[in-house]
Amino acid sequence: MSYCINPTCPNPENSAYSQRCQSCGSQLLLRDRYRVIKPLGQGGFGATFLAQDQALPGEPSCVIKQLRPSGTAPQVLQMGRELLDREAVTLDRIGNHPQIPRLLDYFEDGEQLYLVQEYIHGATLQQEIKRNGVFSEARVNQFLSELLPLLQYIHERKVIHRDIKPTNIIRRAQDGTLVLIDFGAVKNQVSQTLANPTEQTALTAYAIGTPGFAPPEQMAMRPVFASDIYAVGVTCIYLLTGKPPKDLDYNQTTGEMLWERLVQTSDHLTVVLRKMLEISVRNRYQSPQEVLEALELEPYLDSFAQSMLVQSCTVSKERMSQNCEESGVFSINPTAVSGLGEPQVRSAILAIPAKTGDTTATYAVGTEPTVVTKPTTLVRTHTGCHTGQNSKTPRRLDTQGLLRDYLKGKRNFALYNLSMLTLQDVDLSETNFHSSQLVKTNLQGANLYNSNFAKASLNRANLRDTNLSKADLSHADLEGADLRGSDLSYAYLNNANLQGANLCGANLTGAKISQEQLALAKMNWMTVRPCGKPGLL
Ligand SMILES: [Zn+2]
Repeated sequence: MSYCINPTCPNPENSAYSQRCQSCGSQLLLRDRYRVIKPLGQGGFGATFLAQDQALPGEPSCVIKQLRPSGTAPQVLQMGRELLDREAVTLDRIGNHPQIPRLLDYFEDGEQLYLVQEYIHGATLQQEIKRNGVFSEARVNQFLSELLPLLQYIHERKVIHRDIKPTNIIRRAQDGTLVLIDFGAVKNQVSQTLANPTEQTALTAYAIGTPGFAPPEQMAMRPVFASDIYAVGVTCIYLLTGKPPKDLDYNQTTGEMLWERLVQTSDHLTVVLRKMLEISVRNRYQSPQEVLEALELEPYLDSFAQSMLVQSCTVSKERMSQNCEESGVFSINPTAVSGLGEPQVRSAILAIPAKTGDTTATYAVGTEPTVVTKPTTLVRTHTGCHTGQNSKTPRRLDTQGLLRDYLKGKRNFALYNLSMLTLQDVDLSETNFHSSQLVKTNLQGANLYNSNFAKASLNRANLRDTNLSKADLSHADLEGADLRGSDLSYAYLNNANLQGANLCGANLTGAKISQEQLALAKMNWMTVRPCGKPGLL
């Protein structure tokens, strides 16, 4: 399709190869090169379009912002013009950064101003939250480690973004990188704002940022660099809660956002967010660099994936007592038994994993571990080696690679070889592992809610205390898998092989599983059966 951008065109849709609009006769090829495909947003003084640049090989997509003078009050037009000018100047100054769309063209044509920008294909963080749910703390740290260095770059070039919010951050589909858009001009949400009776008021409100995301000093028309830091803080609260600022409560006296009871962040992150969200500029962080230093985050994606891996292993040290070691033996001291709580290792762990990546992490433990375990815990010994070989050779990913891809938004790991990986306590919910190999993979404590493991090989996988609610495990091989304490409510286990699988303490409420399958597995009085009642058959 070819779209006519004459603001008064009665019927702007044209066939793809037309030269002139069939309704109004306007040239369809702007500047002899840009063919507009469809409108992206429209308002009282401007509109944005998706277009193709036919002058370049491959005809790459671009975004065209058009200042529309028709039927607009002169002072509004003047303000719109200044905003568009400002955006062009800003983008020209800072646009040579991989996380900022490039300014490709800026011109006047038939009394209308146009700004042409690189098109970023991907979903905004708002779309991502609506699609996949809220972020974990690790993902918020990941977000900050990617966005703050970009903000530092922008601030060093004396630019204040003034409108950082989830709808202005796009995760580029091509590589998962966060891209910051909208440097202060014709925005897509204009239409809503300009539905107000006075365009002047709307445009003023618009020019100073988005209420709720913009801090008080910015709403009072005095934005400073730290104003962007406040907006990043509000964005973090949105990522953690899924609630936009208008749905949050505020302290009537101080104006502070009341968010702390809504999130379950570590004390460390809470303190940092609190300082990002200080009402007084004086008490807020002054630069993105300061926030990064406070977070002790390395501003690089790869090193973050590494640190998250180490973090995950650190967390799991407390639970590692019953990990399936290389020999496949669960080492449990049956004399130290307590009826309550999670298993804990009392003795000091002297070393972190000797190896990470392709093999299950091994731990060096100083003294013989004293393990507190539930009275029903079974001591099992595995012998033999199951390789889970397949006629195809599935793609191999190591732990770091998998986490990096997941953090970038990848959710499809069908037909991968993920055997023996250490993925303890990670969030891999709503992910596709169809037909993948996860033989002896350690997923203890992981969130696998609604994930697809159909036809996957989970032979002897460690799935203790995992959230497998609503997961698809149909035709999966779960032979010898450790499913103790796992949440399998409403999971699909049709035709899954549960020979020797340990379902002690597992919750099978509403799960699709037959009596024959259950008869092959180990259960105890704490196992909640598919009917919702605890106990043995
Ligand atoms: Zn037309």
